[in-house]
Amino acid sequence: MENCIFCKIIKREIPSDFVFEDENIIAFNDINPQAPIHILLIPKKHFASLNDIPEEKKEVLSDLLLKARQIAKEKGIARTGYRLVLNTAKDSGQEVFHIHLHLLGGRRMSWPPG
Ligand code: 5GP
Ligand code: ZN
Repeated sequence: MENCIFCKIIKREIPSDFVFEDENIIAFNDINPQAPIHILLIPKKHFASLNDIPEEKKEVLSDLLLKARQIAKEKGIARTGYRLVLNTAKDSGQEVFHIHLHLLGGRRMSWPPG
């Protein structure tokens, strides 16, 4: 997708700090981390948000969740805890319209979120 910064990260047109890559997913450190561990996981195929994932592509969602769980384990925060955030559309504060799962950990989180 043209003009999508996350598609550009996938294509290495914008540098980023990669954590993981396979044929379907990449994970990289957030440029403006909100916790000691703040990683973004995205599908290589462009979908603007959760609202745009069709039912027949639901494996995109399980791939993101299971990979986030694996990375949390590898980063040593699976037992202490972590938060997954999937901002969707305007009221959530979504800023980048290529679906991304935030993996946040390494500190105690508060609730409710802002
Ligand atoms: P959203 O608010 O859309 O859920 O989150 C977008 C996230 O992408 C933000 O946490 C922001 O810091 C991150 N981000 C935006 N542009 C870039 C970039 O060019 N590189 C990286 N690594 N993260 C970015
Ligand atoms: Zn994109």
